[in-house]
Amino acid sequence: MAEMQRPPFVFMGGKVVPWESAKIHVSAEALIRGMSVFEGIKGYWNYDNSSLALLALRQHFDRLTRSALLQCLPFEMGFDEFHEACNALVRKLMTKERDLWLRTTLYAVEGNWGADTVTDLVITCYHQDKKRPAPIEIGVSTWQRPLDTGLPARIKSPANYQAGRLARIEGRRQGFGDMVMLNQWGRLAEATGSCVLIVRDGCVATPPPFEGCLESITVNILEALAKSLGISFERRPIDRSELQIADEMALAGTLMEMGVVRRIESRQLPASTPLFDRLRDEYWACVRMEKSHPAVKLTPVA
Ligand code: PMP
Repeated sequence: MAEMQRPPFVFMGGKVVPWESAKIHVSAEALIRGMSVFEGIKGYWNYDNSSLALLALRQHFDRLTRSALLQCLPFEMGFDEFHEACNALVRKLMTKERDLWLRTTLYAVEGNWGADTVTDLVITCYHQDKKRPAPIEIGVSTWQRPLDTGLPARIKSPANYQAGRLARIEGRRQGFGDMVMLNQWGRLAEATGSCVLIVRDGCVATPPPFEGCLESITVNILEALAKSLGISFERRPIDRSELQIADEMALAGTLMEMGVVRRIESRQLPASTPLFDRLRDEYWACVRMEKSHPAVKLTPVA
């Protein structure tokens, strides 16, 4: 698990500091109310290992800004400063053998109930194997995604992962690698750290964010790739029962990339996944810079 690594450096308080000195006070709202918003950003080496690039950096910055706005956390940093902060840490930690995953977290370090809030952008960066995700077996959790009027799924905040954590614990006990969560209407929302895509009758479908999933950057990329490949792609509510009859199923997210689902609950999915194989290969070729596509935006680390 990426976050169990202890890389030697962290970005905090506007500079790169040693891991051991990256500390937050016990009274910070970041701790006592879990008040922070974050992004997970992938750094890929290209196919010949000559350049490392951050995927969808601008899109992640924009979503972090929106999460901060929704959570009433001040975030004054502009994109250039954010970019340079990521670069500063990546330059210290990059190694050609492995890709990277950056967690950029905006913590509420001072303030109380939203008054006098002071935030700090903290970046941690972990090494990742350069391998494609293995097929996965998933269950359907009894834990649900909350309503938009309670805990909006489009805010990428740790609070939104509490039900997901319970779902993963539930899934581990049942022998599943991940769990799908339904929304209040019993329809598909998302998995614990990724979105869900299905294929029915030759068309890819995934729920829109109003069904209780994060506004996924990976899904936006996959939608654009699908369109270029001539694969139909729709965003529509997905009933629970459709999970039992889908022709193909996959999880998609920055860290997950695109992992094909082999089994959901007791149902084995067809071994052949022709549409998702094409989409996955295209995604992989683009992030490794073997091909280019306007929807796959890569920012090289200088
Ligand atoms: N849903 C959840 C709960 C997630 O944690 C993620 C990963 N960030 C996603 C969906 C996929 O979002 P993205 O493609 O932007 O990484």
